[in-house]
Amino acid sequence: MKIRAAVLREVKKGYSIEELELEPPKEGEVLVKYAYTGYCHSDLSVAMGRIEIAKPLVAGHECAGVIEAVGPGVTRVKVGDHVASTWMIPCGDCPECRSGLGNVCTGNFPHFLAGTMLDGTTRIRDAKGNPVLHGNFVSGFSDYTVVPETGVVPIRKDMPLEWAALMSCCIPTGWGSVTNLANVQPGDKVAVWGLGGVGQNILRAAKMRQANPLIAVDLEESRRDVAMELGATHFICSSKDDPVPIIQDLTGGGLDIAFEAIGDPGAIVQAWWALAMAGRLMVIGVMAQDKVAEMPLTFMPLQQKSMIGGLYGSISTHDDIPKLCDLAMTGEMKLDKIVEGKFKLEEINDIAEKMEKRQLNGRWVCEWD
Ligand SMILES: [Zn+2]
Ligand SMILES: [Zn+2]
Repeated sequence: MKIRAAVLREVKKGYSIEELELEPPKEGEVLVKYAYTGYCHSDLSVAMGRIEIAKPLVAGHECAGVIEAVGPGVTRVKVGDHVASTWMIPCGDCPECRSGLGNVCTGNFPHFLAGTMLDGTTRIRDAKGNPVLHGNFVSGFSDYTVVPETGVVPIRKDMPLEWAALMSCCIPTGWGSVTNLANVQPGDKVAVWGLGGVGQNILRAAKMRQANPLIAVDLEESRRDVAMELGATHFICSSKDDPVPIIQDLTGGGLDIAFEAIGDPGAIVQAWWALAMAGRLMVIGVMAQDKVAEMPLTFMPLQQKSMIGGLYGSISTHDDIPKLCDLAMTGEMKLDKIVEGKFKLEEINDIAEKMEKRQLNGRWVCEWD
């Protein structure tokens, strides 16, 4: 069948909007008609070459839609099910999966990097008949795609599909970072650097965990309002003020937990200096591969500080995403404004440029016809 998609062929050259040929799902695969696809900062990092994966690929990994058809042997979903995609597909058999860390599965990760289905091939061809890769398994910026059945999670049908799309990446990454990785406790002194999609969901979760104070740090003053709406007790604009002495003052000696949700070497160092004795720095943002943070580590043992990296909020996708959907539908997560705006596929380069210039204050989702 013919599909429309945003294809990334070269870094820093933008996406090309192309009509592609999609093969039907094979054994254990499903055909999904996407309803919404969020533009995540990781998409931008791939497009700018800050994260390297095989190309040309259909971009996008934060998506939700409806199952249109299933291949042979599919048992987990059926036609008509609403699903959120997941960009990590645990194999269930590697050492990481066997120890409950499917979010860092090494069994399937080579296919993620190579942009193929789990059998090592692609279902997508371009107008010249050349193969095009499945970005992050789920090729989110296409109106239809084929995904391994384990790459989609059934979602309750009363959940708006634009929220379901964000259940693919920014919501579980932010929530899991607070609940699984950091295990924030009531009264913990917490700050979050970077209020993009993940950072905002770290704020949401840390607020529900009753962190206090809960300090939001961002380069853009324009993000103050959203920070306060999501429950931050303080906002620091780090392009005007050095957050470290302010945080030391507000907390009476430093943070129990700092979340770095940007992937910026300078922010990582700031967050490190803002920690209290035995404080923990959770590195959630993905730093560009050619960047280095110079860390003053003298006090790491002397003050028992630690630095912990986290991928995908250390979630178990098929267990945790449905639970987060139930929580979201109670209203407590305040998702009403999580989508700042909607765009059409043809506008994706404009959205990418605005994100690069930090002109977006919330998530923008591509709306499919
Ligand atoms: Zn695995
Ligand atoms: Zn993402």
